Amino acid sequence: MSSERGARVWLRHKEQLLPSTVSSCDDASLVLTTDYGKVIYLQKAELNGETLYPMHPSSVHGVEDMSTLAELHEAAIMHNLFLRYKRDDIYTNIGSILAAVNPYKQISGLYDSTAVDQYSKHQMGELPPHIFAVANECYRCLWKRHDSQCVLISGESGAGKTESTKLLLKFLSVMSQNSAGTPLSERTTRVEQALVQSSPIMEAFGNAKTVYNNNSSRFGKFIQLHFSQNGNIQGGCIIDYLLEKNRVVRQNPGERNYHIFYALLAGADTDHRDMYLLSEGPESYHYLSQSGCMKDSSLDDKQLFDSVMEALKVMEFTEEEIRDVFKLLSAVLQMGNIEFMTAGGAQITSKGVVSNVSELLGLDCFQLSEVLTQRSMILRGEEICSPLSVEQIEPGMGGLDLLGAMQANCQREGIQWEAIDWMDNAECLDLIEKKLGMLALINEESRFPKGTDYTLLEKLHSRHATNPYYVKPRVTDHQFGIKHYAGEVLYDVRGILQKNRDTFRDDILFILKDSRLDFIYDLFERVGSRNGDETMKMGTARRKPTVSSQFRDSLHSLMATLSASNPFFVRCIKPNMNKKANRFDPDVVLNQLRYSGMLETVKIRRAGFPVRRTFKDFR
Ligand code: ATP
Ligand code: MG
Repeated sequence: MSSERGARVWLRHKEQLLPSTVSSCDDASLVLTTDYGKVIYLQKAELNGETLYPMHPSSVHGVEDMSTLAELHEAAIMHNLFLRYKRDDIYTNIGSILAAVNPYKQISGLYDSTAVDQYSKHQMGELPPHIFAVANECYRCLWKRHDSQCVLISGESGAGKTESTKLLLKFLSVMSQNSAGTPLSERTTRVEQALVQSSPIMEAFGNAKTVYNNNSSRFGKFIQLHFSQNGNIQGGCIIDYLLEKNRVVRQNPGERNYHIFYALLAGADTDHRDMYLLSEGPESYHYLSQSGCMKDSSLDDKQLFDSVMEALKVMEFTEEEIRDVFKLLSAVLQMGNIEFMTAGGAQITSKGVVSNVSELLGLDCFQLSEVLTQRSMILRGEEICSPLSVEQIEPGMGGLDLLGAMQANCQREGIQWEAIDWMDNAECLDLIEKKLGMLALINEESRFPKGTDYTLLEKLHSRHATNPYYVKPRVTDHQFGIKHYAGEVLYDVRGILQKNRDTFRDDILFILKDSRLDFIYDLFERVGSRNGDETMKMGTARRKPTVSSQFRDSLHSLMATLSASNPFFVRCIKPNMNKKANRFDPDVVLNQLRYSGMLETVKIRRAGFPVRRTFKDFR
């Protein structure tokens, strides 16, 4: 009966289970069309109950909660997401986890004020799965449980974490305004406004177009909100993790620098342009043109400028502060245009540019030229200057980065979240960050005066070669690898120690602290105290924290905060690699379902109880 025309079936084909429809059949053969668009011809003689069987109605129609699916294999889970995605039902519950498939389009009514209103008036489960349902439950739990709540949003680059975060904030800010008893959207208080307006600023300075996402966050963030007893937001803070600083000076082909640079060029009027000494467009700046990508049809740089300006005003930045920030941005752009030639040591050939930079930063032009072409150090009370070669200058032009790909992978909201829900990633985490783990070795070597990238690599190899999560590549001699939950990643050690030390040349720091502009002075005054002036005076090696130790410490403190909170999970899923609407690529989705452990989640949820409470709370 599963071979009648129009019947919905599962077909086992090349190791995969494919949701299919019988399109025609006769006595000997069968034609099937899979839901993902393939047509397959079969001989009936080849078939048995293992290779072809009818689909359960729950899979045929789709369900809002995966744990109610009768068929619980990964193909059924994926098919359920697909069915719902086609109907623009992008949210699906997996027990208490919310899966969100990025629609790459605006779905009408999905997030409007009616939706906010509806979800705020219903309990979890009464309305279809939605990010607002999670937000509402999270908000209610503050009073139901009397403890802190947290929402962990994870997924690949471009899966929709940032958008989900903004939706959560939107919902919570409306709830907060509403809690005072006034009707929805009538009353906007300063704190909620500031909360919502922080996004355009954070995104302008910290997001950029990459090949994976036109608005990719190049830093991690943790947003904390404080609610008063009567339910309104009293305050909050945003903690950011490891901005990808390197992007300011270099971008991969097809990627862009941070949005703010293009926005400034697109949005500043003639007067401001003159004040900031800005040229016409991005093509005149090396830092913006080198990647060959300056525009994207999905990005409106002018409009971003306007929204950043508005947000800066809401956040009460003064005219002067805004002016100084933009001057600094312009100075950064011009720095990228300084050219050098070799004549003895390095000589600057673009004097006009240096004079612009010094004007913008409030520095002495001569001193700036000096510090760019030679390095001075205080040794036993005497100042020693040594000229720099052009090669020595280039890497020093502000380009500081963490461990290359390590940053891209660890910094994302991936690793730490996994560890909370399923401890099966623990061994890999141990390799990275326990005592004598990889981060510890990298740190030790960064502090060791004779340490080089290669002595580090040797130590990593010898200490961890036997660890099943460690990879020692056979062919290359400058790489090591880690088998992360989402796959194996190789890391290049070349330059790793310098990047990890993240040091700022003292002589450059000193002239910046000499700036006539308060803003610049304040910025670098702080760097100075981080560098630890005390130890410098004593001539010992600085104990400024390395990038990796800062990262590890901030992760530990984040973990401590999260462990003390009641967690909600949102798992964002990317339906295709082309940033396109209405396109569901089963291979792309399956990969994400596999490494996120979603299948296990469904099984656990169904085997156990969907909600767990301590006995004390229950009583
Ligand atoms: P990254 O890790 O690179 O920062 P991300 O997970 O934060 O990625 P987002 O920037 O949130 O990804 O989403 C990428 C793009 O996908 C958005 O700019 C938007 O165009 C689209 N998108 C994501 N979520 C939604 C949604 N719920 N509705 C409509 N479009 C969405
Ligand atoms: Mg993001």
